[in-house]
Amino acid sequence: MNNCPKCGKEIPDAVQACPICGYVPEEYKVTVQGRHSSAATAVAALREVCGYTADRAAQVLNAMPEVVYTTGALEEAVHMAQLLSDAGFDAALYVKDGQVCFQRDLKD
Ligand SMILES: [Zn+2]
Repeated sequence: MNNCPKCGKEIPDAVQACPICGYVPEEYKVTVQGRHSSAATAVAALREVCGYTADRAAQVLNAMPEVVYTTGALEEAVHMAQLLSDAGFDAALYVKDGQVCFQRDLKD
């Protein structure tokens, strides 16, 4: 069960829309696809931005591209992607059908 982000009522995981208020949950996935900063800086950013442990952050660096954050809130997802981008990652944001809806590299 999850809580509907709009009305706060519990909704079953399998449903496509909240049966109470009609909210359609949309999942945004923030990914890191590469890095331009040092490994130490990248690990520090993953720990600070994503709340990862040092071990988990190191795993992500070795496994890129990796999804590092998932949220139903677009503004939150964009904010996370921007923070990671500022920390020297190629960060991208995907909606759940796999379409990119935010991408920014260091030149911007
Ligand atoms: Zn609802």
